[in-house]
Amino acid sequence: MRTASGRSWLRGGWRRPSRRQAKFSQSRNGAPLPVVLWCPGRETTDGLASAIERGEVLILDSNDPGYEMSALRLACTTYSQFVFLKESVTILKPDEFWAVIDRVQGPAWLSQPPSMYLGVYDSLTFMSRFAGVNADNKLDSIRLESELNRVFRWPVLWPDVRDGTYKRVDFVDGRPEIVIGNDVWEKHKGTARWCEKCPACVNLNGVCEELLADFA
Ligand SMILES: [Zn+2]
Repeated sequence: MRTASGRSWLRGGWRRPSRRQAKFSQSRNGAPLPVVLWCPGRETTDGLASAIERGEVLILDSNDPGYEMSALRLACTTYSQFVFLKESVTILKPDEFWAVIDRVQGPAWLSQPPSMYLGVYDSLTFMSRFAGVNADNKLDSIRLESELNRVFRWPVLWPDVRDGTYKRVDFVDGRPEIVIGNDVWEKHKGTARWCEKCPACVNLNGVCEELLADFA
């Protein structure tokens, strides 16, 4: 996959996942990190109930143009630091989840790449590199997810969460969806039949081989 400039986004630029450890502190005690939720029609789910109860919550419509990039930019003009979550995230153990989020110091990803854009963002850091970058379609969104992870080598809060350790395949409205995560949180990803041709797609017994190759 190539951009107009001919530069490959998905292939070639990917490095091994960061082994850096997140730094934690108690300094944010009493001041919960603001939450930005990206949900279709701004409708949240039971899985995000603990997020809604937080002091500072910004809910953005994922149907708005610009995909994650414009949502993140809007969030950056609202908060200096925030955690970005999506409607497809389910927080299974809220106490544990928010304890980690509220103690992390500096930006971090929630999972191994692909990050799905889920992370603790520092607005100045994000805007310094991506203030003028737009996603006009879903493919741009996927390319930029890869680019974001390559540019920002942030520590990973839950290194056990990645595509390869997916939990199960759920059928949502008849469509198979891969669920990744651990016992603290999980996320429904897009269709489990990404390329529809490889053995993992055909047999529904893993993550699409083509998708994995893109992020390998
Ligand atoms: Zn496939």
